[in-house]
Amino acid sequence: MNNFSTEQIYELFNRSKRNTESVIRAAPIGICITTPSGHFEMVNPAYCELCGYLEVELLGQHFTLVISETYRQQLTALHQDFMQGGERQEQRQEWEMLTKDGQIRTIIVESARIEGEDGTPRKVTFILDITQRKQLEERLKKANERLDHLAHHDELTELLNRRAGLQRLDEEIKRCDRYGGTFSIAMYDLDDFKTINDQYGHSVGDSVLQQTTALVNQVLRDTDLQIRLGGEEFLVIMPEVDADEALRGMERVRKAVAQASFTEHHLTVTLSSGIASYVETSGTRLLDRADKAMYQAKQAGRNRVVIVSSPR
Ligand code: GH3
Ligand code: MG
Ligand code: MG
Repeated sequence: MNNFSTEQIYELFNRSKRNTESVIRAAPIGICITTPSGHFEMVNPAYCELCGYLEVELLGQHFTLVISETYRQQLTALHQDFMQGGERQEQRQEWEMLTKDGQIRTIIVESARIEGEDGTPRKVTFILDITQRKQLEERLKKANERLDHLAHHDELTELLNRRAGLQRLDEEIKRCDRYGGTFSIAMYDLDDFKTINDQYGHSVGDSVLQQTTALVNQVLRDTDLQIRLGGEEFLVIMPEVDADEALRGMERVRKAVAQASFTEHHLTVTLSSGIASYVETSGTRLLDRADKAMYQAKQAGRNRVVIVSSPR
């Protein structure tokens, strides 16, 4: 037992109450107390700063004043449930706050039910502004997605790049090794492409590459996959397609490209292609075979499609 007098105890209680009030005023997080009907009974300075209203503008107002239209009904219902329910503590949640000047801020909210001076329940809510952290996370996420895209795609044509393409080729071989079935590949290279660059410049050459590959994608089936191996050399993986069907497919592609004209200069371009079909081998061996067939197509006068002559 201590030896404080009644006056001293009274004074200590008062000091403790003032301290509590000071702590709430100085708290770096927003704190508010709402009545069972959802009206503000107390807001601390951090809360006011967060939503941009003065204390006098908030007291007596319904809390949905700082909630965007979309969530008003939902949050009012949650408030009512909480005030009537048995739980003393509301789960920490992420919400959006609508500020006086119409900005949306991302906040973390945690609430507890307390007893008001009149003996009826109140809700005290603690609010942390995580808008900046959220924006940073969003930017990092986008940057990572972009990096991931760049790691697997070619910037000029947006096709899969060589590394990602060869990985898909190996996967396709593994799939056939394991489950049976077949697939074909076609390698193609644009004919005399150097002359386009020489006559019209590199950027026109780039546009021709973009437009040609876009046209090839249109003519191919949705399940076929076009890959930029490098320069003006491409690979098409055709799942479930045998050599004859691949030949028909690439003939359609060859004709479509030869008949089209590209860029504002109305340039025409042709392609030579070599086809090889699945055998139990590595991706590079299969590519070598398609490459040989493509070489034969070039040798035979270009603008043609050749199937590799021997199976291995
Ligand atoms: P061939 O019929 O024998 O294939 O003749 P070609 O002139 O197409 O010869 P080759 O395939 O060896 O030359 C490729 C040319 O493609 C060389 C280069 O100038 C051009 N090229 C490669 N990559 C790009 C690119 O990204 N943009 C542009 N504009 N040109 C490229
Ligand atoms: Mg070429
Ligand atoms: Mg080439």
